[in-house]
Amino acid sequence: MSPITPDSPPNVATMSSIRLIGLLHGLFAKLGQRGDLEGALSQVLGELAEFLEADGGFLLSAADLSNLRLLAESGAPFQEEAMDKDQLHEFYNEIFREHRPTIIRTSRPEPMSLVGVPLVSDGRLIGGMCFFRSERKGLFTYEDTPLLGIVALPMAIHLENLEYARSNAARRAELEAIVASMVDGLLKVDSWGLIVSFNDAFRNLCGLPDAEFYTLYWDDLLKASDRHAELFADFNRALREGLPFTARCPATIQQGDREIPVSVNFTTIVEGSGRITGGVLSVRDVTIETQIDRMKDEFIATVSHELKTPITTISGFLEMMITRPMERQEQLPLLELIHSETARLGRLINDMLDLSKIQSNRLSLDLKRFRMDALIKGCLKPFEMRHKSTHHFALSVEPARAMVHADPDRLSQVLVNFISNAVKYSPEGGTINLVARRTEDAWRVEVKDQGIGIPSDALPHVFDRFYRVNENQTAGSGLGLYICKEIIHRHGGQIGARSEVNQGSTFWFSLPLQTKDAKAAKPAKQGSRALRNHAIRQAER
Ligand code: ADP
Repeated sequence: MSPITPDSPPNVATMSSIRLIGLLHGLFAKLGQRGDLEGALSQVLGELAEFLEADGGFLLSAADLSNLRLLAESGAPFQEEAMDKDQLHEFYNEIFREHRPTIIRTSRPEPMSLVGVPLVSDGRLIGGMCFFRSERKGLFTYEDTPLLGIVALPMAIHLENLEYARSNAARRAELEAIVASMVDGLLKVDSWGLIVSFNDAFRNLCGLPDAEFYTLYWDDLLKASDRHAELFADFNRALREGLPFTARCPATIQQGDREIPVSVNFTTIVEGSGRITGGVLSVRDVTIETQIDRMKDEFIATVSHELKTPITTISGFLEMMITRPMERQEQLPLLELIHSETARLGRLINDMLDLSKIQSNRLSLDLKRFRMDALIKGCLKPFEMRHKSTHHFALSVEPARAMVHADPDRLSQVLVNFISNAVKYSPEGGTINLVARRTEDAWRVEVKDQGIGIPSDALPHVFDRFYRVNENQTAGSGLGLYICKEIIHRHGGQIGARSEVNQGSTFWFSLPLQTKDAKAAKPAKQGSRALRNHAIRQAER
């Protein structure tokens, strides 16, 4: 072979070899690049088509012969529909089933020549690469196939990379969507504990501008109690020394001037090679859970106290009556006290039962028609008798003998609760006014006292479960008004209160004249949501 020098013009064979090497070099370089994988495919196809003087070329994926998918094309579009189906099937069969380079001649849509090679990587068929040109330009020959064979391997690897990049991108998008939609805060840190990324929930928990996060270590934001300080240090050590670590502990996050209780899960990130590259912290806001726990504790303490007090009184008086000889006259006041304390116990137990019915949606109504004035008078009478020396009572019902359609026992329960609160939270000498008015479409009943009143910030919460304006005030469980609200809502009515501190309070409810049938009266949705709402409000106070 004669050496190629600048002076000696290369012969035709050398020229085409140089062109071929140049072409392959260019193609391999394009297929090896990392950036625009799809763009590289089209470019390579275009250059090969040009070299082969083809009218066009295309790449098909080969997941399933009956479902070939076009991955890229270059030059004129391939008119597959116009071709002879059997011939085309035979062509694809050779490439995708037999994995053989193939050349065919077709007469439709014009006399054409087609060449195709399978793209195989590591024994796996990835796809097929095909070119076509009109017969005018000459038929493809098997001399064309070695070139395509040489390009087929890097092309197959490139396609695999593309598939991998696409599925990676899809998986990444999926993961990003999951992380973004998470209610828990998520925080990724490097092996020094510096914050690398975080989701919206964590951003909201801390309430800091984005730029500030990236200058912070995770433990600048999360604070451990003394009991868990050691665990924080262990996680940092695991990150630095590349040791696996998983743990969970309570902590707090400072959000402005609020300290938020959180529960933190620590995990180190282990790469495929087993190397630890950083850590992930998932951070859950447990304000509501903490609040609910506190409310439950308070409730148990209140109820235990409420149960214990009457039992102590009853057993004390009974003991006195058993151990000391007494005249009937002497016994009477003690028996009255025992009677009222037993009634108090009964009320508390009934409230607890009602609470459980409300929670399991079993509080039903037994609707009847009865006179409103009779019901109110019946409720008021025991109070007038018991408190005639300390309180004045006034009653006005209009129209006097008008009927109401409701559950009389449940309505009495509401009235008794209103009146007993009015007495309980009023000083001696005060007047308690009961007013019932029937308008065109509803009954409205009010119980007005001249008592201690309720501060405006507490007023919206008095109908919440377990809520008491002052935990140390007179006996009570904080359940009465909550149950009243449920009863009135189940009648389709409304309930509310107005109040002014040291001036008095007015508790009212309204009932539509056409109360629905008990079965149809849909119980308002209750349960954990009401408790959570209450806890949120408590937490915000
Ligand atoms: P309790 O068993 O504590 O009385 P309730 O649910 O009946 O429970 O009432 C809730 C809270 O609302 C009470 O603890 C009290 O602080 C306040 N409250 C209710 N009625 C009155 C009233 N007439 N005057 C002042 N405060 C009241």
